[in-house]
Amino acid sequence: MKADGVIQVLNPATGECIASVPDLCREAITLAFDDAAAALPEWRARTVEDRCAIVGRLGDLLRRDAGRLATIMTREQGKPLAEARGEVAYAAGFFDVAAHEAPPLLTRPLRTSLLPGGKELRVLAQATGATACITPWNFPIAMIARKLAPALATGCTQVIKPDERTPLCALALAALAEEAGVPAGVARTVTCEPSRFAAVAFSHPAVRFVSFTGSTEVGRLLIAHSAQRVVRLGLELGGLAPFIVLEDADVDAAVAQCAASKFRNAGQTCICANRILVHDRLHDSFVERLAARASSLRVGRGLSPGTEVGPLIDDDGMAKAERQVADALSRGARLVTGGHRVHVEGCLDRFLAPTVLADVPTTALCFREETFGPIAPVARFRLEDEAIAIANAAPYGLAAYVCTRDTSRADRLARELEAGIVGINDGTPSSPLAPFGGVKPSGWGREGGPEGLLEYCDLRMVSIGGAPPIGGAA
Ligand code: NAD
Repeated sequence: MKADGVIQVLNPATGECIASVPDLCREAITLAFDDAAAALPEWRARTVEDRCAIVGRLGDLLRRDAGRLATIMTREQGKPLAEARGEVAYAAGFFDVAAHEAPPLLTRPLRTSLLPGGKELRVLAQATGATACITPWNFPIAMIARKLAPALATGCTQVIKPDERTPLCALALAALAEEAGVPAGVARTVTCEPSRFAAVAFSHPAVRFVSFTGSTEVGRLLIAHSAQRVVRLGLELGGLAPFIVLEDADVDAAVAQCAASKFRNAGQTCICANRILVHDRLHDSFVERLAARASSLRVGRGLSPGTEVGPLIDDDGMAKAERQVADALSRGARLVTGGHRVHVEGCLDRFLAPTVLADVPTTALCFREETFGPIAPVARFRLEDEAIAIANAAPYGLAAYVCTRDTSRADRLARELEAGIVGINDGTPSSPLAPFGGVKPSGWGREGGPEGLLEYCDLRMVSIGGAPPIGGAA
């Protein structure tokens, strides 16, 4: 067996090495999948109530240890401590929802139909089997919770591969799963180079479903991998969310929602406002107030009290954000606030001042590619149809936002915008209760709510014969 190497975990604010985790070799990863396959029959055979008691306990343990987990998260990911605590609470919610939703889903047919002649059709949901998940660094606990909770509750087993930059949260969650009573082998967390993991996950004969959250670019690679054994995929990919402020909107409320959407996690979220479209009549006052809000945000280390915007994850993230600002300015956009680095004592040069750009042409890079930084680019529109056309022109469809006081316009736009998630006067729409996911190259499948549990189930149709038919049907 080849020796395992080591992955160093760095604090993104300071560059300090805070831990090392094993870079597992192919054989060790295969063993994790063998364990997941071996543990499946016993786990699946338990009553759903038994499994859900463990799943619910895991949610409680996350809440019990919220402070400790948040500190680990801030150290390896950089986000402000208060946001890290919020993420832990959000993650716990997925265990609560899975524990609540799985029993009715698995103990009765989803539907029964009685046909003439006494025939009966039943639709049953059954655990898919052994699964794998690959998660990103921007929400290092919640993105695992969205996958692990439904897997455990439905009776699947799972091998988890967190991002190399944030394995400590995943390992802390794994220890809590063990404490909650998840048997060895049912949930295994492995740390390794990602393409090695994918090679094993897609070739292991037991794996029936791979759930991925990350970039559309890597999603495409996984689609190609999945073709070999025709493994089902769940894909939560990138976004380029439009944030539309109609002329009847409450400007202060729209600014507050936009700032919450844009600047949390230093703009490193898949659903954050990426293309802000403001009606011509409100553009100037919206920009002025958003800039005031942006410049009031406190930039600093996530662990420092009062910090509202932390560092970007790495130098590439900083370079991408700065490239987008320079590109927008070169195309005639106006820098209203920010656009410069902020020096934070004892830290690396990875802090970008919250930035507002006005009169941004829709041809600018920041309107065409995901930003993943604290940059709010604003463009004007005059007609509602024009805003919808710009919004839907993007090759993504994760989240979209509309600010308006008119409920019928809100209803219309909620249907017309090409997105899996629409926030109406709401810049932070995620909830463990509701299905989260995208359309177009933003992904396949949903996480959260009862729909998120169905991703870990196979549907089976059972037909119970009545009187034999005359003739027959295919
Ligand atoms: P990424 O695709 O580079 O990495 C995500 C995960 O994929 C990590 O675990 C990484 O190790 C792994 N990975 C990288 N290369 C791989 C390969 N060749 N084979 C297998 N796995 C591989 O994404 P990122 O840039 O680190 O994360 C940010 C992206 O995630 C953004 O595009 C963001 O929009 C997206 N995201 C989407 C959602 C959602 O729910 N739709 C949520 C959070 C983040």
